[in-house]
Amino acid sequence: MATAAYLVIRCDGPPDGEPCGAETHTPHPVTTHSELRRIRRADGWRTRRRPGGGPLLDACPDCTGRTRSHTA
Ligand SMILES: [Zn+2]
Repeated sequence: MATAAYLVIRCDGPPDGEPCGAETHTPHPVTTHSELRRIRRADGWRTRRRPGGGPLLDACPDCTGRTRSHTA
């Protein structure tokens, strides 16, 4: 049985930018980062693969918003 925990994902910045250091977590415990990312995606967090493999990179809504025109 997996132990639920308050996992955190940290922003790695836009593809060509610096990490901004933002962090996010869920309001309730999750067991995997995949589940956490799925939940945070609704809030604008994005996950991408590092070219050539390696750890996944996360970007917060602020950083993902910088790469596309945002007129809201
Ligand atoms: Zn960010």
